[in-house]
Amino acid sequence: MKIIVCVKQVPDSAAAMSVEDGKISWGDAPLVINPWDEYAVEAALRLTEAQGGDVIALSLGDENAKEAIKHALAMGCSEAILVNDPAMAGADTQAVARVLAAAIQKIGGADIVVFGKQAIDSDVGATPSMVARLLGWPAVTLVSEIVECTQSEIKASRAMEEGRQQVAAELPVVLSIVKDYGEPRYPSFMGIRKAARASVPEWTVADTGIDLPSAVVTWPNVMAPPEREVTNEIIEGSNPEEIAAKLADKIMEEKVL
Ligand SMILES: Cc1cc2nc3c(=O)[nH]c(=O)nc-3n(C[C@H](O)[C@H](O)[C@H](O)COP(=O)(O)OP(=O)(O)OC[C@H]3O[C@@H](n4cnc5c(N)ncnc54)[C@H](O)[C@@H]3O)c2cc1C
Repeated sequence: MKIIVCVKQVPDSAAAMSVEDGKISWGDAPLVINPWDEYAVEAALRLTEAQGGDVIALSLGDENAKEAIKHALAMGCSEAILVNDPAMAGADTQAVARVLAAAIQKIGGADIVVFGKQAIDSDVGATPSMVARLLGWPAVTLVSEIVECTQSEIKASRAMEEGRQQVAAELPVVLSIVKDYGEPRYPSFMGIRKAARASVPEWTVADTGIDLPSAVVTWPNVMAPPEREVTNEIIEGSNPEEIAAKLADKIMEEKVL
């Protein structure tokens, strides 16, 4: 079975974003593999462990994205490809999806392409479905469990707010994976050494066989949220009843209720 897992390099989840002069900055935050994509790599590896085959990590990004790729390789992916093209600055989700779909086709397709649920920096969550649409494959999103997978069909559970939904789809298929799938493995020492030595081919957009896609969504204005003035008041009292009574009075006085 041939599986491609798409991984994105993002600022660490503790990073604070700021906006200055209409430009977004993540400061000096370290860059890490998108945490949701670790679950995607885990799912891809477990599928090949059960079925045999290889997992190829694919990323679109700049030089920094190599770290995400190395993490995926250290977890156990056998190969990786980076699409690195400065002309993609300003690309929107559909442009990203077009390039990923073209790269997947250039790789020679796959039985399954696995994505994370969403990227924690942009939080669009639409890339997996867009790539599926471009490839003409079914998309099974928000997968929490792979119930059964054969060479021709997959049965999976989707995590819905109200419960679980079981779906079946023919291969080739695009999946996006949620946290409930199971803890991603830590990269092994051997894996880290292998990843450090791995050579990762780099393609431009032209190498994927398509013209540079232009953005259809732009950001005419980016602004920081308005600052809120917050004051704290500690309510004192000699016992809990007195504090509660003062708090209740305060809530009524401030017309909170
Ligand atoms: C106006 C505008 C300007 C933009 N400018 C830039 C820019 O200058 N530079 C830039 O890099 N992006 C830019 N983007 C793209 C944007 O930041 C997102 O990366 C893109 O829209 C995909 O959405 P997302 O990251 O929220 O992915 P989601 O749809 O939330 O991601 C879901 C999954 O898709 C996969 N995935 C997503 N992105 C990638 C990737 N790059 N490589 C591999 N797998 C991936 C991962 O598995 C991820 O878990 C811009 C977007 C817009 C709308």
